[in-house]
Amino acid sequence: MILPIRLWPDPVLTKPSSTIEVFDDELRSFAENMAETMYSANGLGLAAPQVGELRRLIVVDVDPIDQENPHGLITLINPRVSSAKGQIIWEEGCLSFPGVAEKVKRPNQVVVEYQTVEGERRELRAEGILSVCVQHEIDHLNGVNFIDRLSRLKRTLTLREFYKLHPEQAKIAKK
Ligand SMILES: [Zn+2]
Repeated sequence: MILPIRLWPDPVLTKPSSTIEVFDDELRSFAENMAETMYSANGLGLAAPQVGELRRLIVVDVDPIDQENPHGLITLINPRVSSAKGQIIWEEGCLSFPGVAEKVKRPNQVVVEYQTVEGERRELRAEGILSVCVQHEIDHLNGVNFIDRLSRLKRTLTLREFYKLHPEQAKIAKK
C-alpha cells in the first residue's frame, strides 16, 4: 500500500520519533508499505515520520545510483550511529521537499546499530551515498531535516525555492 508522503512544513517532520518495542505483523506490514512508498516515489530512503508515523523505522535502497556495490532494500528499526569518521559533501534531496536539493556535509563512514523487523540486532557499516542516505533518514527520526544542516542563508534560499514550486505549502507555512 502506498502511503501519502507529508511535505514540509507538516509539523510531524519536526517531532522526535519513539523507540519501537513490538515486532509484530503490523510492524512488518508497515515496513513493506514504507518500502513500496519509497520505490513508487523514486526515493533512495524514507523515514516513518514522512508518512506521519512517529516511530523509529527507516527504509533505504541506494542501488539505483550505486550499482557497483549493491545492498538492496535495508529496513532499519531503532537505528543509531555508533561511530562516524571522514567527510563527504553530497547534494541531498528529500521526498518531503520535492524539487529542491542542496549540498550537505556529513561523515563519510558510519557504523549503525539497528534492529531488523524481527527484532534481531544488527550492525551496518556504510560509506559514501549509503552512509549519507542512512544519516539523512536517521535525522528524520529526531525531527531534523536536511535544511537544518545548511547555513542560515542556504536554508532560507532553499525554502524560498521550495515554496515557489509548492505555493500550497507556502500558504500552510504562513498560517
Ligand atoms: Zn528526507
